[in-house]
Amino acid sequence: MKRLVVGILAHVDAGKTTLSEGMLYTSGNIRKFGRVDNGDAFLDTYALEKARGITIFSKQAMLRLKDLEITLLDTPGHVDFSAEMERTLQVLDYAILVISGADGVQGHTQTLWKLLRKYRIPVFLFINKMDQPGTDEEKLMTELKSRFGDGCVDFRMNGTEAFFESVAMCGETALDEFLETGKVAPCCVRGMIAERKVFPCFFGSALKLAGVREFLDGIRDYTDIPQYPDIFGARVFKIARDDQGKRLTFLKVTGGSLKVKTVLPELEEKVDQIRIYSGEKYETTEEAGAGTVCAVTGLLATLPGMGLGALKQQTVPVLEPVLTYRLILPENVDAAVMLKKLELLEEEEPELHVIWNEKAKEILVKVMGEVQIEVLKTLIADRFGVSVDFGAGHIVYRETIADTVEGVGHFEPLRHYAEVHLKLEPGEPGSGLEFAAECSEDVLAKNWQRLILTHLKEKEHVGVLTGSVITDMKITLIAGRAHVKHTEGGDFRQATYRALRQGLMQAENVLLEPWYDFKLEIPEELIGRAMTDIDRRYGTMQPPETDGGVAYLSGSAPVAEMQDYAKDVTAYTKGHGKLFLTLAGYRPCHNPEKVIERIGYDP
Ligand code: GDP
Ligand code: MG
Repeated sequence: MKRLVVGILAHVDAGKTTLSEGMLYTSGNIRKFGRVDNGDAFLDTYALEKARGITIFSKQAMLRLKDLEITLLDTPGHVDFSAEMERTLQVLDYAILVISGADGVQGHTQTLWKLLRKYRIPVFLFINKMDQPGTDEEKLMTELKSRFGDGCVDFRMNGTEAFFESVAMCGETALDEFLETGKVAPCCVRGMIAERKVFPCFFGSALKLAGVREFLDGIRDYTDIPQYPDIFGARVFKIARDDQGKRLTFLKVTGGSLKVKTVLPELEEKVDQIRIYSGEKYETTEEAGAGTVCAVTGLLATLPGMGLGALKQQTVPVLEPVLTYRLILPENVDAAVMLKKLELLEEEEPELHVIWNEKAKEILVKVMGEVQIEVLKTLIADRFGVSVDFGAGHIVYRETIADTVEGVGHFEPLRHYAEVHLKLEPGEPGSGLEFAAECSEDVLAKNWQRLILTHLKEKEHVGVLTGSVITDMKITLIAGRAHVKHTEGGDFRQATYRALRQGLMQAENVLLEPWYDFKLEIPEELIGRAMTDIDRRYGTMQPPETDGGVAYLSGSAPVAEMQDYAKDVTAYTKGHGKLFLTLAGYRPCHNPEKVIERIGYDP
């Protein structure tokens, strides 16, 4: 069996779910053509998705085209879930990018395009909603080429001279072949698609099932089946639970095969069941070959992004949650019991952090955004039968340093001794914490050095401005001292913490806050208002572009200032404007004095 994993991506409302439905129906894989608008789409399975008509969780469907088996992965489109989308991208062989023919290339589509380039995923484009009046294929092709390059080729012309000529312009081998024979062989076209030199474009209407058959044929004819090594490897991209609460590890087998009852040596855990999901249903299998996407039960220690077998750990950093909310429980529910339950959810969602605030005896959750809070509310109600509320959201700040310092920590009460010297250096934005040892073993024995590094890594350390977690720093052990008789295990822990603290007290500390990259699409006449708004919200922006009465503005701004801006945009544009946000990471805070004063942390 030839296997492909294909992801389907789009700007919200372009028709991603409808196209998935249309492809499954046209290929005979489902009997009934469900509708997003009626809440019976095959892939929008969760109640909340049905209610809102949006895709929140990534899901899969199996699509068979003769001897080709495609795992179709629907990805969540909302910014709060962008981390889950990025992890899904890592297991794709190909991507389908759905564009609304009525709206053209929108802000978020370009963000998706950049991500696909980053992960080097070949792309097929489906320009949807061509049944709507005013859609113009020529104009759309010109727009696609100008936004995404001349690699965008209209595949409806396949077989014509114009088609071969367009393909030939995308690569030298193809050009030679074209000049010699007047054609380009399909295998050559396939190769260029796989190398991201050619991006096939198809037009149609998912809702009217127009152009869907041609699109499926295009995918069957113009995709290469990846070659996988014989030795077992797999990539975990999602952790979830089934209706019974069983833990599911979603993974793609990237080499060899995975059999039930196999013990994974790195986890010392046994694979219980292997499930191949399609929509809400699944079939079990004894063995999953390379290229299969499956859900495995019996594994408890897996984490999203993890590599198993021959596959190394992921290199993509997990996005940090940027907002914290206080959980408000009904009176008869015990916080300690709820905490245990939330910890279950936490391991499924690395973007969700659950914190117990001992002082206030309350539960705090850190998340990516408001929609995630809404999802969480529904999940808690569904899974645990408790209806909770959340207080107002607060920004999660971080701290870093702007200069290099040395911190020294001693721990020497009677009959104890430990001394640690750390060098603290500022790191690149987004690099997180990095630890190293540059200390001779003549000065400090290897085992003590290792212990100090463990103490640095074992917990989150807080800064001295606001008590927020520190990040983007390199911390190097440069010296230390132990006593032959009086050094005990815990001594180095104290000395390490003290050295870090002492270093931070001397450094120039910088308060960081999360920033969004934003794209704003509004009627041209409102651009002045929009620019003033962004300015007032401490954002930065590029000069606006206008096209056919629509103005496009892009830039970045602090999450703290942008949280409720989407509502404003809808209001002042009377629903015609759209705001797209993606997390840009942590940058210097726009109002550090105010925040530091408000938090009132005593270092
Ligand atoms: P998604 O958010 O990208 O998953 O988009 P959906 O599949 O949920 O579709 C969004 C809306 O567009 C729904 O109301 C669909 O019925 C509608 N829609 C999808 N495809 C088409 C199409 O080809 N033509 C028209 N006119 N509407 C469509
Ligand atoms: Mg959808």
